[in-house]
Amino acid sequence: MSGVPFVDLKTQYARLKPQIAEAIQDVLDDGRYILGPAVTKLESELAEYCGVRHAISCSSGTDAIIMPLIAYGIGPGDAVFVPSFTFTASAEAIILVGASPVFVDVEEDSFNLDLADLDAKIAATRAGGKLNPKAILAVDLFGLPADWDELNTLADREELHLISDAAQSFGGVYDGKRVGSLAHVSCTSFFPAKPLGCYGDGGAIFTDDDELAELLMSIRVHGQGADRYEIARIGINGRLDSIQAAILSVKLQILDDELAARDHLASVYDEELKDAVTVPKRIPGRQSAWAQYTIKTDRRADIQAALNEAGIPSAIYYPKPMHLQAPYLPYGGGEGSLPISETICHQVMSLPMHPYLPDDDARRVAEVIRKAVA
Ligand SMILES: *Cc1c(COP(=O)(O)O)cnc(C)c1O
Repeated sequence: MSGVPFVDLKTQYARLKPQIAEAIQDVLDDGRYILGPAVTKLESELAEYCGVRHAISCSSGTDAIIMPLIAYGIGPGDAVFVPSFTFTASAEAIILVGASPVFVDVEEDSFNLDLADLDAKIAATRAGGKLNPKAILAVDLFGLPADWDELNTLADREELHLISDAAQSFGGVYDGKRVGSLAHVSCTSFFPAKPLGCYGDGGAIFTDDDELAELLMSIRVHGQGADRYEIARIGINGRLDSIQAAILSVKLQILDDELAARDHLASVYDEELKDAVTVPKRIPGRQSAWAQYTIKTDRRADIQAALNEAGIPSAIYYPKPMHLQAPYLPYGGGEGSLPISETICHQVMSLPMHPYLPDDDARRVAEVIRKAVA
């Protein structure tokens, strides 16, 4: 079987081609190419979609994490708690502002932060006396919202900022509330392959806090003060292009439809694969955005070989936990310190997942996997 793309952006483009052409042309005609009216429009649509007061668009998901860290004044001597089993950007942002990541283990089934280990790491950091605990950066890995009620309770009790890295979960739902509204501040990415992607780099930050929103808007444009040439603080160039915003406005209109298609596809995989491998955990009250459909298996090499043979793409997110990656070694406890993260890196495997994958293709992917482990 050939022609099963891992992510299919071309079919989506074919569906939206005239609307996207018109949206881009409107920006070209308007002439405001950065933070123009298309950006303002997108931000109000995003805020409404997530049910928050403010959506602040920005240049990438990574900048969307860096900016709240700057806004909270997090820097040298401060500790930010972050899962080790994540994409590098989560931990990188912490180091870029001068703070130190404290790596926390994850749950073996949800792949999200393990609350007991988080508790232990906070206590140990306080007892250590070297770093000041300042924030928790929790990730909704592969699209499944983390345990936000528990995280908010814990963050309140420990007087820590709670930041949601929702780069993979935009569109997800927790207890009837959209991702974006689940923490004091939430960050997402519009990298093309994310559940809501543009045609370049982009991101957004969500909050109900008016003061924080104002601060973030200043940080986004070099710390601009009351007028453009008054510098109130040190910021970054974190702006979103108007063309990307216009494209996102078009794509946002079909996001719910696409999320339903992803969830349907996940159900097909679940049914076909549940006896052969460990399928992704579903948790009542939580709806994944299915950025990835990630299985666990001790037969990964066999499955990968069989899929390769059949011309079916697969990916390993992530082959190594962050605390064992070279640049992060000085911040972590080394080999053996986070056993779940270290174990699942050898078991996980992500399958083709996108809203336009036909059921029959998913069934054939599953058949190859079942045969490989039979
Ligand atoms: C993609 C991603 C980011 C970074 O987003 P970019 O837009 O690529 O900068 C951050 N965190 C996680 C978990 C991601 O998957």
